[in-house]
Amino acid sequence: MADCIFCKIAAGEIPSTKVYEDETVLAFKDLDPQAPTHVLIIPKEHIASAADISTENSAVVAHIFEVAAKLSRELELDNGFRIVNNCGEDGMQSVQHLHFHMLGGKKMGWPPYAEEK
Ligand code: 5GP
Ligand code: ZN
Repeated sequence: MADCIFCKIAAGEIPSTKVYEDETVLAFKDLDPQAPTHVLIIPKEHIASAADISTENSAVVAHIFEVAAKLSRELELDNGFRIVNNCGEDGMQSVQHLHFHMLGGKKMGWPPYAEEK
């Protein structure tokens, strides 16, 4: 999709530090890491957000979680990790191409929101 930064990363038009790639999925290091390990796992196909997952395109989401499990071993996240998807304005999604944050390497806080409910 034109002007989508993650489509451009998937196409190799914008450089990224890749940690995994296959025909349908790419994982790369987040530019602004929020944990010692912070990678983004994306479908190469443009899906705008989690609200756009449907019967037609959901297989790639299952595959993304298979990749995450494999990466957890390769990135030595044996003590656990967190997978986050921000969706839409309230979810604070800033890039409108479906992506899953995989965070690890330190103990996380919970709940994840800071401001008033
Ligand atoms: P969101 O806020 O949409 O859930 O997450 C978008 C993430 O993409 C942010 O963590 C941000 O640091 C990351 N990001 C934005 N632009 C780029 C980029 O050009 N390269 C990389 N590697 N990460 C990016
Ligand atoms: Zn895109």
